[in-house]
Amino acid sequence: MKLNELTMTQLKAKFDDGQATASAAVADVLSAIEAGQKYNAYITVCEADTLFARAERIDKARISGAPLGALAGVPIAIKDNMCMKGVRTTAGSRMLENFIAPYDATVVERLEAAGAIIVGKTNLDEFAMGSSNETSFFGPVKNPRDSETIPGGSSGGSAAAVAANLCSAALGSDTGGSVRQPASHTGTVGLKPTYGRVSRFGLIAFASSLDQIGPMTKSVEDAALLLEAIAGHDPRDATSVDRAVPAFQSFVAMGVEGMRLGIPREYFEAEAGVDPDVLANVRGAIQKLEEAGATIVDISLPHTEYAVATYYLIATAEASSNLARYDGVRYGYRADEAKTLLEMYERTRAEGFGDEIKRRIMLGTFVLSTGYYDAYYRKAQQVRTLISQDFDRAFSKVDAIVTPTAPSAAFRFGQKSADPLQMYLEDIYTISCNLAGLPGISVPCGTNKAGLPTGLQMLAPRFEEATLFRVAGQCERSLA
Ligand code: GLN
Repeated sequence: MKLNELTMTQLKAKFDDGQATASAAVADVLSAIEAGQKYNAYITVCEADTLFARAERIDKARISGAPLGALAGVPIAIKDNMCMKGVRTTAGSRMLENFIAPYDATVVERLEAAGAIIVGKTNLDEFAMGSSNETSFFGPVKNPRDSETIPGGSSGGSAAAVAANLCSAALGSDTGGSVRQPASHTGTVGLKPTYGRVSRFGLIAFASSLDQIGPMTKSVEDAALLLEAIAGHDPRDATSVDRAVPAFQSFVAMGVEGMRLGIPREYFEAEAGVDPDVLANVRGAIQKLEEAGATIVDISLPHTEYAVATYYLIATAEASSNLARYDGVRYGYRADEAKTLLEMYERTRAEGFGDEIKRRIMLGTFVLSTGYYDAYYRKAQQVRTLISQDFDRAFSKVDAIVTPTAPSAAFRFGQKSADPLQMYLEDIYTISCNLAGLPGISVPCGTNKAGLPTGLQMLAPRFEEATLFRVAGQCERSLA
């Protein structure tokens, strides 16, 4: 087996036994990336010389017995909306096509402090807006499970890189499902941490009250390991929460004996538009969890039907404000041939942004405008509170909630891109978690009739990622 095919945990064990070196791990990953170019998973691969130099330093340190970080020598990919000093950081947009980040995101600093080798920056929907990776300026990503289908989005490049073994693990960002939904479509594990658990410093902002960086991995244990490395308080992000980071890995094997798991009836109703194969797989998994000792509880999340609408008001409002900074003056793309300052702004934004970004900026500007603010934006904030309260009530009765991750398996290119509403409904199960600031994880849960992976989502109370690792770990074992 090539080193790039191992989970991080397996690779670390090989390093510890002296059966593998970081240099060999980097070599295997780079040749896999070369062979896997057809997936278009990476926008930028870091210089081989730099990667090997770092790997050799780690190998030497290991031989000399120097203390090493938890991820020493592990090749990791990061979504290209996280700043990495001296490396191009595009957010999948023409606007930032040639932008070289002048500083590191906190997650990059933490990965490097743990000894990880960041091999490159992965493709994504432009500014992380999308569910299929079809909106990237750098072209769509192909799903390694079936290259006729989308890998999900917006962290489709990270998901494809993990699924095709073009890295040991990756980071994505999740505003409404962008870590969990592509994980579901590629048969990988994706975790969205509690809002405030992981620093957003250096993450290119989409919707700041919803954005959260999370691990995308080949196993639940790897997700725990990676979350331990990136989580924790950061004074540079005012929304980062100062709370101890538990030893998440220790929860993965604990089992679900005695746990109460809620099944929200609204998520299983016909109107939710869920594919029968997905439903059958999810029901099968719930039964396995029950056999493993969990009690299954019927619950209600009555405001579920408003989640998608609420999200698309709040996320677009925040995006319209965040994206105002791309004006052609400070950094990024600037249109030439403009005769006045206003024309320069207009042309820069007309040429630098793709259609989906413009649609969202227009929608967001509209809902924030005088006269509509109360009718749309304020109303959406109120409904957001109701959605959050639904979860608080549910969590007074259950430890975690189990649902499908996405309404169907991966779909074909072009199938939903002509109809934004269809695309937005991809997030129907993942979005409430962001609105309420909860942690959520998706694990592989069987396949549909065409053999494409489907996913199971678990949600837990804020800062209870440990609970997610228990349930997700059990699913992984029971469904294997
Ligand atoms: N698909 C959702 C959107 O387009 C979520 C994206 C995300 O989580 N970044 O907004």
